[in-house]
Amino acid sequence: MLQLAAEGILPKPDAAIFADTGWEPAAVYSHLARLETEVATPAGIPIYRVRRGHIRNDALNPDARFAQMPLYILLPDGSRGMLRRACTAEYKIAAIKPCVRRLLGFEHPSPVPDGVFAEQWVGYSIDESSRAARATDNVAYTRSHFPLLFLPGGTGRSTHGWTRQDCERYLRTKGFENTPKSACIGCPYHTNAYWRDMRDNRPDEWADAVAFDYAIRHGAARANANGHPLRGQAFLHRSCMPLDRAPIDHVTAAEWRSRQLDMFDAVADLEIERGCSPWGCRGDDDEDDTINATWYVEAPNAA
Ligand code: SF4
Repeated sequence: MLQLAAEGILPKPDAAIFADTGWEPAAVYSHLARLETEVATPAGIPIYRVRRGHIRNDALNPDARFAQMPLYILLPDGSRGMLRRACTAEYKIAAIKPCVRRLLGFEHPSPVPDGVFAEQWVGYSIDESSRAARATDNVAYTRSHFPLLFLPGGTGRSTHGWTRQDCERYLRTKGFENTPKSACIGCPYHTNAYWRDMRDNRPDEWADAVAFDYAIRHGAARANANGHPLRGQAFLHRSCMPLDRAPIDHVTAAEWRSRQLDMFDAVADLEIERGCSPWGCRGDDDEDDTINATWYVEAPNAA
C-alpha cells in the first residue's frame, strides 16, 4: 500500500504506523528501514514506529506486564489446547491507538470529538476478504478501509482486488523480491515450513526461538510470580514437543495444497505462513484451536 501510494495509484496517506513487538526477524526490520529510505521518505509519508513492551522479554520477566501469546498447552492428563491470544491486542492494537489519537490531535485523556476519525488502511488481499468482512473498528475514531480489495488489474476471480501473488509480483517489479512477513520470531502460529526455513537459513533466530520455547515451558514468569502457575506445559509447536525436537520436517496437508496452488509462482514453500498484522493475525483463522478453559491456576487469595 505504501508503494502504491508513493506511485500515486492510491491516495497519499498522512502516515504509516509500524507496531513493533520487539521480536521481529532481522529481515523485517531491515525491510522496514529500506521501505522508509526508498519509498516513504521520498513520498513524504512518515512512518511511526510504536511499541508497548518487548514480547519476548516481558514473557520471561516476573516484573513485566505480559499479554498472553497463543501457546500450545499439554495438560498432565495428555489433553491439549491453546492459550487464548492477547498479544496482538496488547502489543499492536494498543500501541497503534495512541499514535492515531496523537495524529488526530486528541491525545488521551482528551476525548476525540464525534465525527473526527482516521481512515485506517489495512492491507488485506482478495484471498483474505473474509477477514475484512470480520474486521471491526472498536473505537469511533478509526474507520478501516481495505484498498487492495478494490484495486483493478488483479488476477483473482473477481474483476477487482489483488491476490497475495499479485502483491508479490508487483513488489518484485519494484525491486522488493523477498518481502518478509511480519510476525514474532517465536510466534506459535508459524507453520512447519516457516520453522524449517528459520532453522535452515536463520540459525540465530532459530536458536533464540528454541531457547524461548524451553524458557516458557511453565508459562509466563509474572503469572508464576503472582501465584498463578500454569496447569500443564507450554510449547511453541502444536505437537507439544520441544521446538528443536518437534516434527517440523513433516509437510502438512495445507502446505501440499499451497505448493500445488503456487507451483507456477516459485514462491510456494512459505505461502501458507501469514504475517501478524494487527487486523490480520492468523490467529483469527485458528480460533477453533483455542479451548475456552482456565489454564492458569487461580491464586488462593485471588479476588
Ligand atoms: S506474531 Fe504471534 S506472538 Fe507475535 S503478536 Fe502476533 S500472534 Fe502474538
